[in-house]
Amino acid sequence: MAGKRTLIGWTAGLLLVATAGFAAAGNAGLLPDVRTRIADTAGIRGFDVDCTYNALSGGLAVAYPAWNGAPARVYTRPWICTAVNRAYRRSWRGADRTGKTAYALLVLTHEAIHLSGYPGARDERLTECEALRLLPAVARRLGAPEQMVPTLEMWAGQAHAKLVREYPSYGGGCEDSGAGR
Ligand SMILES: [Zn+2]
Repeated sequence: MAGKRTLIGWTAGLLLVATAGFAAAGNAGLLPDVRTRIADTAGIRGFDVDCTYNALSGGLAVAYPAWNGAPARVYTRPWICTAVNRAYRRSWRGADRTGKTAYALLVLTHEAIHLSGYPGARDERLTECEALRLLPAVARRLGAPEQMVPTLEMWAGQAHAKLVREYPSYGGGCEDSGAGR
């Protein structure tokens, strides 16, 4: 855990320099409004989001609970923040055309659940199931038009299926929890 934290801290710091140019283009982070609304929906007090995550492991994001005075923080890949920021800024125009926004929303919701009091928050499968269940509420809270919500759910389901094909340990959570989908 300590080793991982150091590696990620170092990676994020290095990338911050490399991507400083993007900050001017509005890629500095997740919009505070977006962050607050996701936190509210997931039932957490708040969290920081660092959008410069670029793990060699191929992971998309990682969540660290508040620890020793440091706030809870999610590290995630730049495209995830960019996709959700853009959908929010443009009032979701065109956001259902590709699965990218839904996938990004699923990842951020998943990480927020890891930081929440949800009983399955330390289990990947249960967290993933809860993220799928919560996704429509998160989309609505971020202003997604009602008629777009089923499409976002469909895309999120496809992203989930793809994830499970690659990482089977993320699958089957809904069956286990009895939530059923
Ligand atoms: Zn997870």
